[in-house]
Amino acid sequence: MPTYKKNCMYCEKLISGDANSCPFCGRSDPFALRCPKCRMEIGKDYAACPGCGFPLSVKCPKCGTMVFPTSICSNCGGSLTVTCPNKKCGEVQPFINEKCVRCGKRIK
Ligand SMILES: [Zn+2]
Ligand SMILES: [Zn+2]
Ligand SMILES: [Zn+2]
Ligand SMILES: [Zn+2]
Repeated sequence: MPTYKKNCMYCEKLISGDANSCPFCGRSDPFALRCPKCRMEIGKDYAACPGCGFPLSVKCPKCGTMVFPTSICSNCGGSLTVTCPNKKCGEVQPFINEKCVRCGKRIK
């Protein structure tokens, strides 16, 4: 299967078109904004996901700015993800999740 390349929408480097995260800037979903919960494609100005109702702005724990819940704060560059405490799972997900999206373990 030929690998096609696309530009990362954050750093604009050419990366593999099926990458889930950009190897250059480390952002997840480098080609389109997606709901962190159900993966539906969403617009930048949506307040909540039309598919599952997930809130699409979170307060960054570092700088306090309301930002899109992607992996990195667009204002201060701080991490907005947590890793599941279940060692067998280790799913990286938005820090506002109360339960792991993969194994259901409580995060807080
Ligand atoms: Zn990038
Ligand atoms: Zn959703
Ligand atoms: Zn921040
Ligand atoms: Zn988990």
